[in-house]
Amino acid sequence: MSELNLILLGPPGAGKGTQADRLREDFGLAHISTGDMLRAQVEQGSELGRQAKSYMDAGELVPDEVIVGMITVRVAESDAGDGFLLDGFPRNESQADALGKALGGLERRLTAALLIEVPDEDLVRRLAGRRVCVKSPTHIYHVDFDPPKHEDVCDQDGARLIQRDDDREETIRRRLQVYHSQTEPLIAYYDRIGLLRRFDGRRSADEVHAHIRATVATLRLEEKL
Ligand SMILES: [Zn+2]
Repeated sequence: MSELNLILLGPPGAGKGTQADRLREDFGLAHISTGDMLRAQVEQGSELGRQAKSYMDAGELVPDEVIVGMITVRVAESDAGDGFLLDGFPRNESQADALGKALGGLERRLTAALLIEVPDEDLVRRLAGRRVCVKSPTHIYHVDFDPPKHEDVCDQDGARLIQRDDDREETIRRRLQVYHSQTEPLIAYYDRIGLLRRFDGRRSADEVHAHIRATVATLRLEEKL
């Protein structure tokens, strides 16, 4: 068995999206976003999709069993044969437990939980320094790392640059608090069962990618033995 079944953990702004895209390309993994999966199942009107919709219509959270049931169906599809990268799940220890049991029922298991670590202060600096053009939101600058020639003016069209509400320091700190309270127990859980691999997210995206790729390649070799 040489499949790679991975989950990716890390705070907002750590670059999980970029690393997920690269890992998927490197190792041919199915990228399973639970949010996308949920929407797709509801649209298709599958049995699990109908169950999920009844909770969503009632304004309730979709129970873990329903989500885990969907993941079980999804990982059996052909594109996940070499493995998958799970995004957005699990978010807590009981979900992690339910996922582990469901995969066990399929005679599969997680290969690793990859954690991209970045100190809060670095994340605040990264995110709060972002400025976007009012005319074209794809014109993005950073006050420290990629400043415009003239303060608060877009180099490309001369429009004003603003800080989005999402990038405000208070908003970022609130999101980080939520992240820490939800995810730290999960990190401890994967550490306890020997699946956690840590990566220094203060480095450049290329360096983080190289480190993750090397680690994952080694894990796959070990799986083959
Ligand atoms: Zn612009």
